[in-house]
Amino acid sequence: MDLVLLGQRLRHQRRAKGLTLDDLSALVGRAPSQLSLIENGKREPKLSLLQAMASALDVPLQELLRAEPPSRRAALEIELAHFQESSVYAGLGLPSVRLGRRLPGDALESLIGLHRELSRVLAEQSATPEVARRANASLRAEMRSRDNYFSAVEEAAAGVLQSVRHSTGPLSQRGILDIAAQIGFSLHYVPDLPSSTRSVTDLRNRRIYLPQVASGKGHDPRAVVLQTLGHFVLGHNDPKDYGDFLRQRVEANYFAAALLMPEKFAVPFLAAAKADRALAIDDFRDAFGVSYETAAHRFTNLATHHFGIPVHFTRVHESGVVYKAYENDNVRFPTDVTGAIEGQPICRRWASRTVFQSEDPYSSFYQFTDTVAGTYWCTVHVESTRSGEFSVTVGTPYEHARWFRGGDTSRRTVSRCPDPSCCRRPPSSLVDTWAGHAWPSARVHSHLLAALPPGTFPGVDAQDVYEFLQRRA
Ligand SMILES: [Zn+2]
Repeated sequence: MDLVLLGQRLRHQRRAKGLTLDDLSALVGRAPSQLSLIENGKREPKLSLLQAMASALDVPLQELLRAEPPSRRAALEIELAHFQESSVYAGLGLPSVRLGRRLPGDALESLIGLHRELSRVLAEQSATPEVARRANASLRAEMRSRDNYFSAVEEAAAGVLQSVRHSTGPLSQRGILDIAAQIGFSLHYVPDLPSSTRSVTDLRNRRIYLPQVASGKGHDPRAVVLQTLGHFVLGHNDPKDYGDFLRQRVEANYFAAALLMPEKFAVPFLAAAKADRALAIDDFRDAFGVSYETAAHRFTNLATHHFGIPVHFTRVHESGVVYKAYENDNVRFPTDVTGAIEGQPICRRWASRTVFQSEDPYSSFYQFTDTVAGTYWCTVHVESTRSGEFSVTVGTPYEHARWFRGGDTSRRTVSRCPDPSCCRRPPSSLVDTWAGHAWPSARVHSHLLAALPPGTFPGVDAQDVYEFLQRRA
């Protein structure tokens, strides 16, 4: 229970009835000082006393316990009280400002504004790479515990679809305009959107500005709109900290995917494919007209919850570094000390890397991989972007491969990672030839949250360097 809020509601009701603290004290048989502590949020009243006060004030008990501040002024006082109680404020060694009628409104507004700005600046500063990595790791743990299925977001998306009477198949641009209109926003495609933004929303005029991009370039423009609308539908406020920011982004992206590939249509589609033992991410993508990555990620939302198929998902750069990863099938990803996976090199024997050696990496690619955690089957797709090529992988334990097209592949590799002799160390013949005679300059993944992985050359794959030199020799 928020004691400050309760105190404000009590005081509001007492004053509305024209009672002084002494009057109320006489009615409930408690000292005025005790009631004052309660009104100031400094003491928690027993339920019996609360009931006595409610009947003395002639209001239902629920009225005192409501979650809304009784007035805007009260809301500001509650916010200030909470700021002043925080450990951050205590650490400043400043006096607490006394709340009450003697505090002028403009002083109150100004203090609140300064506190909010201080909180924002501190939150920004605290988002160090390590904090960011920990936030990522804890978010991943939460996604894993829910099998990456967010029922509240599914329900919100289903509610929106129903409100625009979308009844079948992929969501069109028209449907997206309807959704925006339903939520009370208009969409405006402009040529001069700041390049650091996906979209900008004018809250006063309920206008969403989006970039004028030709379809097929960069992000799916429908997804960008839906992600933005997702923040409003899901009731997101200014993120408290970096973890909150990440969670909101995950939820908004989930919301967009749940509209582009609605559960109501996606589940029957996948169920039919599973019955034919022909689950395929490409088919899922084609049926809903989304990107491969969106389809692969959406599959992880539904696979375990609806079909009992545990899965893993990765997006891996051609250099071997992980950009995104999720698992609930116990596959053992490489991690750093904070438990973060982003920025770590994936085993060279895993499908997300062997695909780059394939004769035709753009055609369907399937592989069984024996790992220290068991045998996994994976389906991989390679996409080219401005930052290079990426493999997008969906994998599942051996016994579930039979539900997928390509589940009978004869391609198989053996991975012994994290044993460093698996692939972390270059072959000794190459080391003998090149150690001490090579000097690569690392390409820094500055946008990655992770620190550079340790190695002979930080951030560089020694084997690739040696092999390159070997070819030129
Ligand atoms: Zn390995």
